[in-house]
Amino acid sequence: MVRNRTTITFYGGVDEIGGNKVLLKDRDTRVFFDFGMSFALKKLFYSPPFLSPKSGKSLREFGILPKLDGIYRFDDTEPQVDAVFISHGHLDHSAYLSFIKREIPVYCGETTSTVLKAQSEIRRPDLEFDLEGLDFITFRTGKKIHVGSLEVEPIHVDHSVPGAYGFVIHTSNGSIAYTGDFRHHGAKREMTADFVLKAQESNPVATITEATNMTGASVSSEAEVEKKLNDIVTQTHGIVLAEFAYADVDRFNSFYRVAKRNHRCLAISMKQAHLLNALRADKGLSLPNVNDKDIMIFRKSKSTRYKWEEKVENQCPGQVKTAFDLSKQQNKVVLAMSFFDLEELVELQPQPGSCYVLSASEPFNEEMEIDYSRLVNWLQHYGLPQYHVHVSGHMMPLELKAMLRKIDAKAVFPVHTENTELFVKFMKDIRGKIIYTERAKEYNV
Ligand SMILES: [Zn+2]
Ligand SMILES: [Zn+2]
Repeated sequence: MVRNRTTITFYGGVDEIGGNKVLLKDRDTRVFFDFGMSFALKKLFYSPPFLSPKSGKSLREFGILPKLDGIYRFDDTEPQVDAVFISHGHLDHSAYLSFIKREIPVYCGETTSTVLKAQSEIRRPDLEFDLEGLDFITFRTGKKIHVGSLEVEPIHVDHSVPGAYGFVIHTSNGSIAYTGDFRHHGAKREMTADFVLKAQESNPVATITEATNMTGASVSSEAEVEKKLNDIVTQTHGIVLAEFAYADVDRFNSFYRVAKRNHRCLAISMKQAHLLNALRADKGLSLPNVNDKDIMIFRKSKSTRYKWEEKVENQCPGQVKTAFDLSKQQNKVVLAMSFFDLEELVELQPQPGSCYVLSASEPFNEEMEIDYSRLVNWLQHYGLPQYHVHVSGHMMPLELKAMLRKIDAKAVFPVHTENTELFVKFMKDIRGKIIYTERAKEYNV
């Protein structure tokens, strides 16, 4: 009897945005879905760079890594997990693969593997993000993967990074749908609809759903973002400075099209150029070539050059521009720059009539607020008005409810949210049982 049990345990993503680590046990099979970094949990004990974890053991000590044996490189026990499935390449779902025993296979989408590999070339390997030696097995949507007693069906979803998947997992006790991170207002909403349909058809006993946006939700779309960006760029006489996530290719496409329409070039960072080069082979993404005449590559002034940066420079020699180069053609450029590039403004000297577009989420925690107040000081110093134009990578509450109704699972587990209680109350009138998800508790399905 006991051998036929199917259970789910949440080791991260509970009462926090990200850090998902879901252990599914079915008969003798044990599989993790996502193995992300828990920013919130880590912050309870650490304050980098002066108080940083020294080893995986420290992270396990505080439950930032699950307190389990047979998973980590730093313990000598036999592997006790059969596989890890990664829904997408964001670090809050994937970074802690760093600690996984190298003999445990890691399944992820083809594009996710490209994103992760490009990211690990860009970041120098550190304790919390080192993918060296992992055995990636890639899939595309519609594939069926057998691991022990489980059959796992990855189905594409729309999210703010390419190659995001949800999973329909067929267990000995019925199917479980796991959304990963998803939305229904992005450039490829039909992919999310595909997932919802597959989940519904599987007649699931449980849905594990992200519930990020229970507060501060909005009604918008990537198409609307593009339109607003166009309005701003059309009216700007100087340089347009823009902050957006470098792995968000939909946002990149929006900026690229808007720049082009306004006879400007889009100047992207070296790391975005590196990622785009890596993703070029993916025909499903329809990305422009980095060598395109409407793209420039912004080189920050610094003394060290990494190998991947040299590769980018050699591939696109005529397109690499410095702050000094761009300062001479401000009304011809939309410059993608992050908070960490602000120092470049000293060389760039934005001319009057320039502006700054924050095309990323607003600060949602204390540390980000501190950084944000510095950003405000920089913008004030250079006389740059700030516009906020963004749409979330996550599902909005009313749409989420409609989808959960459609999927109609017997039980619903919210993860990836700081508002579990609100979610439970808001979803109460759907047919399935809404579970108040708790950390490290084993649930029977
Ligand atoms: Zn996430
Ligand atoms: Zn994500």
